[in-house]
Amino acid sequence: MAWTCVVLGTAQDGGNPQLGSPGVGPPRMVASLAALADDGTTLLIDATPDVKAQLSGLASLPSHQRRDSPNIVDHIVLTHAHMGHYAGLVQFGKEAHNARGIKCWVTPSMAQFLRSNQPWRALEDGGHIDIQVTEPGKSFAPAPGLELRLVQVPHRPDFTDAVGVSLNEVFYLPDIDGWEQWGEAEQVLARHRICLLDATFYDPAELPGRDISHISHPFVDDTVARFSHLAADRRMILTHLNHSNPISDPESAEAESVRRAGFEVAADLMAFPLSN
Ligand SMILES: [Zn+2]
Ligand SMILES: [Zn+2]
Repeated sequence: MAWTCVVLGTAQDGGNPQLGSPGVGPPRMVASLAALADDGTTLLIDATPDVKAQLSGLASLPSHQRRDSPNIVDHIVLTHAHMGHYAGLVQFGKEAHNARGIKCWVTPSMAQFLRSNQPWRALEDGGHIDIQVTEPGKSFAPAPGLELRLVQVPHRPDFTDAVGVSLNEVFYLPDIDGWEQWGEAEQVLARHRICLLDATFYDPAELPGRDISHISHPFVDDTVARFSHLAADRRMILTHLNHSNPISDPESAEAESVRRAGFEVAADLMAFPLSN
């Protein structure tokens, strides 16, 4: 089965623009990724507050229309329980899409959180989602031609742990506290051909009055300096952009300097075929 990866959103959890606050550059949906097979089988990574609009766009693609299921997606992988990454799950419940048995691939910590709190627990009790508890580091194959692995990363553990997702040759990492805190970073990125990485903030100038030691994301210049050698033979794509991030505007000098260093700025609906 042939698969295509589609970027469904590229903004930090609050979207761009954020509620009550204008953003830099064109509007962007909240960060998420889908894998779509030629028979319409669909896997979604993260269920964002924008999921309804994101999946409506996907459903208009010809391959999605070939699918033979009343559910709009077959699988959902959740990276962690910050609002931009799982709050859209409510759209799969009985008041909305009324899905039946969507496989929901999560770490033990995320499963425990969903099962201990409403309205998430009602999604499992009502049979809308079917939680698949997945140990980080172990491969799993939700559908023929797809191989996934959840990779635990350091990220503000408010309610759950957090993971990046290895999906065939793609590594998707929307949130990480910083590269120093994750000793395996280079090793994991180097194993993939396409890396989509947390680029929430460009530099501290975006955050006047904030103590940067409390900002739990790497800045873009750190990411670019640290991994520019990896950009020579793989795609390094920056995503999860805060609405204040100057690279959200593809015409900005900052976006141009990132491109000169061999990196790309993610765009909603960017797509790439997966090999398997
Ligand atoms: Zn996030
Ligand atoms: Zn987060």
